[in-house]
Amino acid sequence: MIEISTLTKVFGSGQEAMTALDNVSVTIAENEFFTLLGPSGCGKTTLLRMIAGFELPDTGEIRLDGQPVTHLPPHHRPINTVFQNYALFPHMNVAQNVGFGLEMLGRDRKEIDATVARTLELVRLDHLAGRRIDQLSGGQQQRVALARALAPAPKVLLLDEPLSALDFKLRKEMQSELKRLQLETGITFVFVTHDQEEALTMSDRIAVMSAGKILQIGRPMDIYDRPAARFVADFIGDINFIEGTVTDGGTVATGSGDLAVTAPLPASGTTVTLAIRPEHVMPGAEGPNSLAGTLAERVYFGSGTVLEVDLGATRISCRTGDAPFAEGAPLSVTLPPERLQVLQD
Ligand code: ATP
Repeated sequence: MIEISTLTKVFGSGQEAMTALDNVSVTIAENEFFTLLGPSGCGKTTLLRMIAGFELPDTGEIRLDGQPVTHLPPHHRPINTVFQNYALFPHMNVAQNVGFGLEMLGRDRKEIDATVARTLELVRLDHLAGRRIDQLSGGQQQRVALARALAPAPKVLLLDEPLSALDFKLRKEMQSELKRLQLETGITFVFVTHDQEEALTMSDRIAVMSAGKILQIGRPMDIYDRPAARFVADFIGDINFIEGTVTDGGTVATGSGDLAVTAPLPASGTTVTLAIRPEHVMPGAEGPNSLAGTLAERVYFGSGTVLEVDLGATRISCRTGDAPFAEGAPLSVTLPPERLQVLQD
């Protein structure tokens, strides 16, 4: 539905030049909850602003339902945006805020009133239609901003870190709320966040960005279980990296011992990075791929315990439920071959 091809954008010139987007291509499907995820400054907002029409690319094209829209002004695109700071009109009440876009579109009063009522019901704010904006909580303001963006029934809704101003509990609540709204309305959502957990829990697919480039596009599970690059592996959740060299025997020699992997390996002699999630490291187990170590640190975090195990050449984190192991005592860990990812970068 949204086809983005080879978008490039450089801000400034000469020594000040900053490549915000570097040859970015991605296709977003109809009805998809699509997330742009990456650290601050990676180009997420610039890409979102281009889809909205607030920013023009230097090169490249954006198509919507097959039609080129790259140079269409924002109000001629069937797209709406929810901004980080909500950008609500403080002198208007809730219903007036939600109806504002419809008035601008010249819809008649009856239709506006019906749509506002329906949309407020959708975001569960119908009981506050007459309230002034400054008499609402942060979470309620967030819902008004959503309702205002949803009211004209856009084909695409762009959301730029819409939950970042909310506290933890409210953010969790709004995450499932947004997911519900997307399913109920069938609108394509393009969501920007730097919060990996938010991206993993809400999205149909995620594009992980770094320094103006998309490094990987995939479903949350693909990105988490099979990161294509070290940056992606590191940015999405906790992970251990172990450096090694491919041996003639098809294993990986590391400073702490030889490891077998099920993933394909490059030629013998190549240096690789093995990656494994802490929850996949098995403490106290003996057998193939088990490495001898010492329990350096134990950190209890409520729903489990993290064990930091010293393997001599490296240290590995291991997440486990129950941990009847003593700090300073010998502790071996097993790295299941099928859980070891091989990264080459
Ligand atoms: P954040 O999460 O902090 O909002 P982001 O991933 O959304 O970051 P962008 O806002 O897209 O990143 O910015 C990408 C890069 O382009 C940054 O280095 C930023 O400083 C630069 N940039 C963005 N807009 C402009 C502008 N109008 N003029 C100059 N540089 C800009």
